[in-house]
Amino acid sequence: MGYDLHVHSIYSDGSLSPRELIEKAILRELEGIALTDHDTIAGLPEASAVATELNFTLIPGIEFTTDLGQSEVHILGYDFNLHDSALLQKIAAIIESRQERARAMVQKLQRHGIDLAWEKVVQLTTSKFVGRTHIFQALLAEKLINPGVAKEAFHHYLGKHGLAYIPHREIDTIEAIELVNAAGGVTVLAHPGRMGNDLLIHKLVEAGLQGLEVYYPAHPPQMVQHYLKLAADYGLLVTGGSDYHGIRGQNRLGEAQVEQLPFVLKSLL
Ligand code: AMP
Ligand code: MN
Ligand code: MN
Ligand code: MN
Repeated sequence: MGYDLHVHSIYSDGSLSPRELIEKAILRELEGIALTDHDTIAGLPEASAVATELNFTLIPGIEFTTDLGQSEVHILGYDFNLHDSALLQKIAAIIESRQERARAMVQKLQRHGIDLAWEKVVQLTTSKFVGRTHIFQALLAEKLINPGVAKEAFHHYLGKHGLAYIPHREIDTIEAIELVNAAGGVTVLAHPGRMGNDLLIHKLVEAGLQGLEVYYPAHPPQMVQHYLKLAADYGLLVTGGSDYHGIRGQNRLGEAQVEQLPFVLKSLL
């Protein structure tokens, strides 16, 4: 009966629409979910309309892929002003930059003799968001990789050390935190256990970070205890979510959640 504060839809790299996500959440008896698509808020109008229709709590959100030096850090933003012009401009610039990056990755594949047309990638997107998932799905759809070794193929072509990989250079972590805070939102470090470097947290807190995603499928109980303590020491909010992508065999909706909302939703004020 809790809240899953980390969920992706077809507007980024998930496989379900906001309506399907909310219907599933209601079946799972969740009280609410946050839609936190990567680098886009394009799914939020549909999500909030469906939530209103079905009398369900939808927390508006986003998950930014950010750079902190050489580290990739994921920052969740919640309940910010959806019309904040600085935030909207930055999101548009990130999406633009993602388009260029994905295009360049496809060109790299082509240079390695993989005959994948850019149009095949774009066909698989719902919004302007494009990422490695879409390139991968296009490679599978075009039978350019063998589904039997899909995991290895992802690694080989698109993994961090893959032939066609290009790193993200879209937004600095501190800038993302400041932008979301300035738009009246709540900023949370996503899956700190996956980041694996707690020393970075201090700097993020100084920049205005408000919470830690303590409850997360890949965080074993000991790690949860560790981050609960860290959150208490820094005076941070404790959040949690499943990082559900609607993909069979991966995290399940509601697999990690919080019993109560760690912040007051503006729409409830
Ligand atoms: P991007 O943000 O464009 O760098 O893409 C990251 C996304 O790629 C992740 O959110 C996943 O959806 C996808 N991804 C990462 N690793 C794998 C993998 N081994 N197999 C399939 N998809 C993956
Ligand atoms: Mn993802
Ligand atoms: Mn993430
Ligand atoms: Mn995520």
